[in-house]
Amino acid sequence: MIKDNVKALFAQLPAGVELVAAVKARDASEISEAAKAGVRIMGENYVQDLLRVYYSVKEPILWHFIGHLQTNKVRQIVDKIDMIETLDSMRLAKEIDKRCAAMGKVMPVLVEINIAEESAKTGVHFDDAADFVRSLKVYKNIRVEGLMTMGPRTASGEKMRPYFKKMKELFEKIKKQGLEGVDMKYLSMGMTSSYVAAVEEGANLVRIGTKIFGERNYD
Ligand SMILES: *Cc1c(COP(=O)(O)O)cnc(C)c1O
Repeated sequence: MIKDNVKALFAQLPAGVELVAAVKARDASEISEAAKAGVRIMGENYVQDLLRVYYSVKEPILWHFIGHLQTNKVRQIVDKIDMIETLDSMRLAKEIDKRCAAMGKVMPVLVEINIAEESAKTGVHFDDAADFVRSLKVYKNIRVEGLMTMGPRTASGEKMRPYFKKMKELFEKIKKQGLEGVDMKYLSMGMTSSYVAAVEEGANLVRIGTKIFGERNYD
């Protein structure tokens, strides 16, 4: 049951670690159930899915966007989303900034890092991350609040640990630079198979789907 799964997770996560329920492929009633069990943040991957459930979930929750966001879809979601965890290009930053400026909003974002340098994957490459964050300074309607990673596609569980370590080092390095308009608060990493290792390595935002809602039929 969703309620029991959430309870078990809360019992396990240390204080200061926030749970994001990854809700792709779930319906509004499942999302409401998670909210009633105490989940404050829902993470959605797809714009169409968000629009499908957004108005049906009545509980007071926050929405994080955790999927690959196409520039031409930004307009449809900026008013509904409380954080975009997957900022991965200047082009996308520019569009988010423009749409948020138009509605007088400052969007909290995390920069998505392609930690394994996989060419087929989205995300800013590890070595470019600090420069990328610095160059976001021109966008006044975006506030960088940390980093996010999916980890390598081919690894899960314990095999993710070295990548999580690298992420934490990068997070601390950028934080130390004390950049203007940057408030390094969140390190988002860890999913059902890997959140234990992620938290041990310094994650304070974990995105969990399967362990809350059960197996799903698609990604
Ligand atoms: C699906 C998904 C998760 C959660 O994955 P589970 O293995 O079901 O816990 C986390 N983050 C992102 C970006 C996802 O797409």
